[in-house]
Amino acid sequence: MKIILLGPPGAGKGTQAEILTEKLKIPQISTGDILRAAVKAGTPVGLQAKAYMDAGDLVPDDVIIGVVKERLTEKDCEKGYIFDGMPRTIAQAEALDAQNVQIDAVLSIEVPDEIIITRLGGRRTCPECGMIYHTQTKKPSKDGICDACGAGLIIRKDDETETIKNRLETYHKETAPLIDYYRAQGKLKDVGGEYNIASQTAEVFKVLGL
Ligand code: AMP
Repeated sequence: MKIILLGPPGAGKGTQAEILTEKLKIPQISTGDILRAAVKAGTPVGLQAKAYMDAGDLVPDDVIIGVVKERLTEKDCEKGYIFDGMPRTIAQAEALDAQNVQIDAVLSIEVPDEIIITRLGGRRTCPECGMIYHTQTKKPSKDGICDACGAGLIIRKDDETETIKNRLETYHKETAPLIDYYRAQGKLKDVGGEYNIASQTAEVFKVLGL
């Protein structure tokens, strides 16, 4: 099964992708995670991507398309995967089509901007292992400390208020047109984004027939 999770930053794509990964035993492909790892490791891709990410802008399509193409050659992708945060532009979607990647379903998680701003403002990230927490909805057991690896949690630069506003603008301009793109292909499934995690998961499972 090949699934795309589409929606603004903070819609719950990463959380639902993690849950689907467990359920379907296929990997989550998060371009954001891949890029953050590249930045941390100081690879050429990381060096190219950092300034765009810090500003809340999209990393150029050719960089993303190259990174994803390489990731899809790995063995764990054989039975399918869940794209989280990819594609983000029509050009990226067209590149997947051109590579003959057969997507089964595109889940569109729509959430109003005001809710996103509150959600992302409370987001805390582990700089070591990438686990994500929230000051209200997903607290770590020990304040400010990652449950998984014990590192101190941080506010990602791109979760700062001004950057969030830019990311939302970018989403509406560049990414939201993908909703119609995939609707036209008959693959789009709408999922409400204002729920709590459990009811959102229930809806995701329902639209996928799981
Ligand atoms: P995310 O964790 O998915 O919100 O991604 C964090 C940042 O990485 C984004 O704000 C972009 O700068 C960059 N990024 C991630 N995925 C993509 C993509 N598919 N296309 C362009 N930029 C991306």
